[in-house]
Amino acid sequence: MLKSINPTTGKTIKSYESHSAKGVEQIINAVDKTWHHWRNTTFKHRSDCMQNLSSLLKSKKTELAQLMALEMGKVKNEGIAEIEKCAWVCDYYAQNAEMILENEIIATEATRSFVSYQPLGTILAVMPWNFPFWQVFRFLAPTLMAGNTAVLKHASNVPGCAVAIEELIREAGFPENVFRTLLIGSGLVKNVIKHPAIKAVSLTGSTPAGKSVASIAGSQLKKCVLELGGSDPYIILKDADLKDAAKKCAAGRLLNAGQSCIAAKRFIVVEDAYPEFLEHFTHEMNAAYFGDPCDEESTMGPMARTDLRDEIHQQVLDSVEKGAEVIIGGEIPLRKGAFYPPTILENVKPGMPAYDEELFGPVASVIKVKDEKEAIRVANDTEFGLGAAIFTSNIKMGENIAEISIDAGCCFINDFVKSDPRLPFGGIKESGYGRELSAQGIKEFMNIKTIVVK
Ligand code: NAP
Repeated sequence: MLKSINPTTGKTIKSYESHSAKGVEQIINAVDKTWHHWRNTTFKHRSDCMQNLSSLLKSKKTELAQLMALEMGKVKNEGIAEIEKCAWVCDYYAQNAEMILENEIIATEATRSFVSYQPLGTILAVMPWNFPFWQVFRFLAPTLMAGNTAVLKHASNVPGCAVAIEELIREAGFPENVFRTLLIGSGLVKNVIKHPAIKAVSLTGSTPAGKSVASIAGSQLKKCVLELGGSDPYIILKDADLKDAAKKCAAGRLLNAGQSCIAAKRFIVVEDAYPEFLEHFTHEMNAAYFGDPCDEESTMGPMARTDLRDEIHQQVLDSVEKGAEVIIGGEIPLRKGAFYPPTILENVKPGMPAYDEELFGPVASVIKVKDEKEAIRVANDTEFGLGAAIFTSNIKMGENIAEISIDAGCCFINDFVKSDPRLPFGGIKESGYGRELSAQGIKEFMNIKTIVVK
């Protein structure tokens, strides 16, 4: 049984019967059968279905945002923006997949040689709860446009979103079994990966989950794309517009109550800019109003579950015990629900959870450094490598640091990190491998086939 529990009230919204092992087998077989038909459909047909899906998302954005607010605590305006972004990724691949996947002619000694992109079959997606629609849509739009089919194992705390996604796809006019949701816990994922019809796996989630899934997929020689955790460094240099930087840093830290892989997590500030930046940053973090995600005035909801809230609080307590200082927040509020306040820690040093680990909630680590060189060293002093940002008025220098010196899958200058359907997204080191979105993303689950005519 999977349960939707409202993190604002602690009450169970609905329980969902899990699929049995036999039920899972039947679904995978049905999706695999559909693949043999779906792979031969035209781009025009897939694109029409995808554009219907986009229109449906736009028309239902308020009710889908309400579902997220109730099931995982996302504030309504962020939920609406998430659904609009899902519609965008559907439009992007509906309009561009055919062009991206055109045959590529390569000049050789043969009469004709070219590269063709062919679908692989049924792909398993294992997804997290933090952006319960976006994480799935950025996988499913390219996957279905490529001619693959898919099964989804969504996070156990968002079964309502998982079921809603399957219904949306059906309603948009896709074939019945082109995409199905498996209502299962993580214990059954191993069997799904081993099923012969599953050709590859995409996992977005924590690094331990990624390692576990990758080792099973590896034993079956099945390809993985892994989008894992992050501890994104934001470097603030002395020539930055510090007020603007503080605003963007706070927004990047507090989006989705801080529960984003690409949230700003470590703020590395050169000493000349430190006092002024900290003053503006504290003001911006304090300005957040956390409350019921369905209330218009709330800018931040609760965290998605009380165990996750307790986990981040423990990271704060352990860091403080080792010498970190709390500037604001750091205490569990005396109210019902999985709330945690915007929190700033300074004097954060190696050996503390706030330095070494991912902080998956509204807690900012502020680290003072001597100069730009030390800032780069600290930025890279992490096992993760997902996103990063640099705030400076010297754009040329910023670009140079971003391109050459930062070990991450992306680096933004003078803004917080965001994903975009047109740009590749993914990480290095313990943040995973492979890319989603853009032309690179759609090619991950394709047979890149060489054809040579003598
Ligand atoms: P999680 O515990 O790893 O769960 C993610 C998904 O993996 C869920 O569906 C979960 O199922 C499943 N899962 C967990 N352990 C598994 C295992 N051993 N074998 C198979 N499946 C397993 O992560 P989370 O707490 O939901 O999400 C937070 C993490 O995701 C953070 O580290 C965050 O940075 C990362 N994330 C990364 C990205 C990115 O794009 N790089 C985006 C969003 C989030 P159950 O729910 O049933 O356990």
